[in-house]
Amino acid sequence: MKRDYYEILGVGREANDDEIKKAYRKLAMQFHPDKNPGNKQAEDKFKEATEAYEVLGNKDKRAKYNQFGHDGLRGGRDFHQYTDINDIFSNFGDIFGGSIFEDVFSGGRSSRSRRRTGGEPGSDLKIKISLTLEEIADGIEKKVKIKNYKNCSVCSGSGAKSNSSRVQCSTCHGSGEIRQVSRSMFGQFINVTTCNYCNGEGTIIKEPCMHCKGDGREHGETTIKINIPAGIAEGQYMTLQGQGNVGKRGGEQGDLIVIFHEEPHDLFVRNEYDIIYTALISFPQATLGDEIEVPTLKGKARLTIEPGTMPGKLLRMREKGIKHLNSNRRGDQIIKVQVWIPNKFNSKEKDILKELNKLEHILPSEEEKKSKSFIDKLKNAFL
Ligand SMILES: [Zn+2]
Ligand SMILES: [Zn+2]
Repeated sequence: MKRDYYEILGVGREANDDEIKKAYRKLAMQFHPDKNPGNKQAEDKFKEATEAYEVLGNKDKRAKYNQFGHDGLRGGRDFHQYTDINDIFSNFGDIFGGSIFEDVFSGGRSSRSRRRTGGEPGSDLKIKISLTLEEIADGIEKKVKIKNYKNCSVCSGSGAKSNSSRVQCSTCHGSGEIRQVSRSMFGQFINVTTCNYCNGEGTIIKEPCMHCKGDGREHGETTIKINIPAGIAEGQYMTLQGQGNVGKRGGEQGDLIVIFHEEPHDLFVRNEYDIIYTALISFPQATLGDEIEVPTLKGKARLTIEPGTMPGKLLRMREKGIKHLNSNRRGDQIIKVQVWIPNKFNSKEKDILKELNKLEHILPSEEEKKSKSFIDKLKNAFL
């Protein structure tokens, strides 16, 4: 079970950006690995605080976290989980612009030490999945086939014809970086740039794989199982890390972004986690009461109409709606009762209706018109 990010940083949910930054800075100083060498607990605390700050320190991510909690959108890049301390430095160099970490990280580490795993990283893929209300109500596992770049089947992604056809880059000697030292009156500067000759890969392919022409990848199809939680709404998305296009020559794999679309339903209208169904009943049913059959997301159900039911009355069937995202609660099905008024009738029916209109109780009495319950019923009818 993951701890609440606000709790980790020790701030309230209403804390402003400045307070969050200060809280994180304090924890980062306390648990920084340079200050606690070999202390696994401190390192964990540091990672935890950094993860919390990465979310709460970013307006969009914070809003998403407030709304969905930890696993609202599972596997998303918004909820990066740090396992390697070096990842923190490589991901955070830019966000802090150096300022917050200056006194915290007292040198020794390069803020951009992200190790490249190979060639150019692969791009992200986006797909759209349509869901019915029935699928949204309980969540569903879907299998989708995507067209993406996969590792070349001949060279398994290396791009080289054989192992011996890949040689170390002579310009950067395999590091993928060029370091230039310059001196000035302020001291010595080291300027690190990506090696142009090998594109930062550190190796050069002498004889490329014939199948992929040295790219290390080819077009293919992948079937992916996606576990879609219940309660998804139109336009929400989840990010499956490392399920997009593979990169060139073993470069980092892109992500697969799955965007959800809610299909309109023939019978129901959704209102957050509730579903609304309009039931048409006859005038005699509304007057005398009846038991009717109504559709639900899981088959048919019986519903009692009380005698004297006014048009527009709302009835609630508990927990027949949509399961909440991130909790075990479930919405309701709301039945809006409408009374069907026919506009076609034969002469016999017409006679009956005329007779009906003469009935003593066909209209409310003066007393009833003034009563509170009658006014409430009318109000209800126009909701
Ligand atoms: Zn190949
Ligand atoms: Zn090089």
